[in-house]
Amino acid sequence: MKRGFLNSAKAQKQQLYPAASSSHDTAEASPPSQELESMYKARYGKVENRGKLGLPEGYTPSNIPMSDMQPNGVYKDHIVNGLIFTTLHHASDPAGNHNTELLVEGSTKQKIFSTPGFLKPVPKPSGQPCYVIRSTPDMGLGCFVTRAIEAGETIFAERPLLVAPRSCRVQRGPQLLAQYGIHQGNLVVLAEWEKMLEVAVARMTEENRKALMSLANNHTEDGSGPILGIVRTNAYTSVDIFDGPVKLANNANLYSAILKIGSRLNHSCRGNVTYDFDLASFSYIFKAEKDIAAGEQLFYSYCDLNVPASVRKSQLAPYGVVCKCLSCINATPASDKIRTEFEQRVKDSPKWVTNARANIRLALKLRQDMIDEGLEGTTEYACCLQVLCGMYMLMGETVKFQRIKDEFNKYNRLAKLQAAF
Ligand SMILES: [Zn+2]
Repeated sequence: MKRGFLNSAKAQKQQLYPAASSSHDTAEASPPSQELESMYKARYGKVENRGKLGLPEGYTPSNIPMSDMQPNGVYKDHIVNGLIFTTLHHASDPAGNHNTELLVEGSTKQKIFSTPGFLKPVPKPSGQPCYVIRSTPDMGLGCFVTRAIEAGETIFAERPLLVAPRSCRVQRGPQLLAQYGIHQGNLVVLAEWEKMLEVAVARMTEENRKALMSLANNHTEDGSGPILGIVRTNAYTSVDIFDGPVKLANNANLYSAILKIGSRLNHSCRGNVTYDFDLASFSYIFKAEKDIAAGEQLFYSYCDLNVPASVRKSQLAPYGVVCKCLSCINATPASDKIRTEFEQRVKDSPKWVTNARANIRLALKLRQDMIDEGLEGTTEYACCLQVLCGMYMLMGETVKFQRIKDEFNKYNRLAKLQAAF
């Protein structure tokens, strides 16, 4: 998942970038090449987009035809620029408020719909509903749990409101850039892509449209339209949905998903939630990475976990997030060192087992460092516990072994390591 998976253990929200089409076949709005991607990293923050630095004089966005509605009130599939507007209907909700709007290449739609077992029901959460969306003092709305949750529990699962290409696939992208130059061409690409997104959003039920349009938008000054701004702020990248036979190295053939609940999760570098995407049920399944106390907010990490605070800060800038988690507020060279070295220390730790008595301190220190940085949700933490179990077993420390084994079993619900004890 993540979001790129800068961090192997988590997926991260990845910002979109406007990009233009290459000139292949009839799909004029195909994913951008690596070269174009590097040319067109979408800007964020305040980008001058008025006057001479605004949209080119005389340019008017393309007129994208709206979808036709059938007599039964359902929109017809509709192709524009090589992409199909289509709806994934939710069988048990005739009102359509659990539908997903898709904007995908035809072959990708076919691939999705021919997934074995498609379309399975959305997985059920463990136990009773246990979350609520409410306001926070400094992060807008957030998602909070209403009862204690154990690591590994499914908190909620949902289908997306909208799935669309991760890159802005506009018609004649390279020509627009050549015609208007990088700055204005970039604004034109954003404006053209907004028109496409408008059609997808117009197909939604009023309730879903309201849910999408009420999400945060941290891209109000960079030339993104209102829908694209929301998409750039809230999208999850789905690595399981992509055009063609393989994922491109620049991730440009992947898709983004906007979720009703999942997109409400705020960021922390000490996250307590992770997700899986299940193609057969077309669902995002959110699970607790740690034990979560009743009333706590759910946090998902949008950035890499294995980098210093300064790098996390720059990775979060495109989302407009300034993280105030304990790890960022209290960042020191020592905490940065824990972040950059914990993966290697975990990799080295199996060597410690052969001389358990001498090395037990190393393993306990590693565990404590990861707890201090809020990294218990990582696979590496489960690996560390596994090593500790092995050491205590060899040392004949049965009580300590059992205590760590219980903890390992809890975290291993997500890590799913093969345990030898
Ligand atoms: Zn942080």
